[in-house]
Amino acid sequence: MKLANRVQNLKPSATLAITAKAKALKAEGIDVIGFGAGEPDFDTPDNVKDEAINAINEGFTKYTVVGGTDELKDAIIATLKRDHNLSYERSEILVSCGAKHTIYNITQALFEAGDEVIIPAPYWVSYPDQIMLTGATPVILQTEESNKFKIDPEELRKCINSNTSAIILNYPSNPTGTTYSEDELRVIVDICLENGMTIISDEIYEKILYGDNVHVPVAALSKEARESTILVNGVSKSYSMTGWRIGYAAGDKEVISAMSKLQGQSTSNPTSISQMATIEALNGPQGFINERAQEFHRRKNYIVTRLNSIDGFSCFDPLGAFYVFPSISGFIGKEFNGKKISGSIDFTEFLLEEAKVAVVPGIAFGKEDYLRISYATSMKNIEEGMDRIERAVKQLT
Ligand code: PMP
Ligand code: GLU
Repeated sequence: MKLANRVQNLKPSATLAITAKAKALKAEGIDVIGFGAGEPDFDTPDNVKDEAINAINEGFTKYTVVGGTDELKDAIIATLKRDHNLSYERSEILVSCGAKHTIYNITQALFEAGDEVIIPAPYWVSYPDQIMLTGATPVILQTEESNKFKIDPEELRKCINSNTSAIILNYPSNPTGTTYSEDELRVIVDICLENGMTIISDEIYEKILYGDNVHVPVAALSKEARESTILVNGVSKSYSMTGWRIGYAAGDKEVISAMSKLQGQSTSNPTSISQMATIEALNGPQGFINERAQEFHRRKNYIVTRLNSIDGFSCFDPLGAFYVFPSISGFIGKEFNGKKISGSIDFTEFLLEEAKVAVVPGIAFGKEDYLRISYATSMKNIEEGMDRIERAVKQLT
């Protein structure tokens, strides 16, 4: 059968592919440590699970309205109010099957051939492909480790032209763990607003922040910023609910209505049971989120110290999320058994073969000579994984 061009040019999600590869090796009995998966190792809280079980027992197992029940929208509205003093109406909220689906709906509703969408790199793997699926052109704006992987306002200005339609911001960032202070964010957002751009703000890691970093949503900066922003969030990361598939958008009601129309013709409602569970997640006790963030902080400190003590690595100390994004430039050009390491893919393959450790190559995030290690796994795995990496890289000549 002939495949459409749109899928022929589509790359598989590298993060999901590496996670699947590590799982397959484990199933074959090979002792692989998986640092690929971007999902918390913690369990979904019991009160949330109980609510899902209640939903099943009470027969809440049928279609719901496409964009999420009023009760769930109200819980989302209350969360945005409680956490950030943001005010939204039901018509400005759409619940979808995970934040990935939310972003898919946004890009399909907003972009088409001729549009340019700025994506700061390193970026989350799905942004460029989702933009390309609309026919629009992703414009990659590189950021540098020397600037904590933050957008340089002058470089941003250079990317903007009359075709520029939007930018995708993601902070705390997957994969670098960088984030923005309110002042830094204002500079970036002002440039976007001056140029009439839409801001897609993916804030899914907002609850995982270290030290005195505070999360400020773009939409909270000003009335103008709120009007031009589609806020993206979900329960996957904060509530350890990756498999439940609930994400949401908050923004302009015409855009939300267009997204809802798309969703009504594609997936319909997100799972009724997950919607009930999400209401409990958002309205129930929140204390565990901070406890889990502290555990991520402890792991982050350990992994950054270990990596920086190994010759060849240099690792930026993340401000949030649960990834480190170390530079591997110290290993490029080295050899193992006559095989040269020429980039992040070679290095990742070397680590999988020799150290039995699965990580994601930097090039999947648009940045060569780096790699991403997720520390959303136990301290025991992290310690063992770091030992293995340290032993393996000593063999490079
Ligand atoms: N945005 C970012 C930056 C992510 O890392 C993820 C993780 N998969 C998502 C969106 C999507 O999350 P989900 O679809 O599980 O809600
Ligand atoms: N966001 C996670 C990651 O980056 C999950 C995998 C995915 O959806 O791509 O690993």
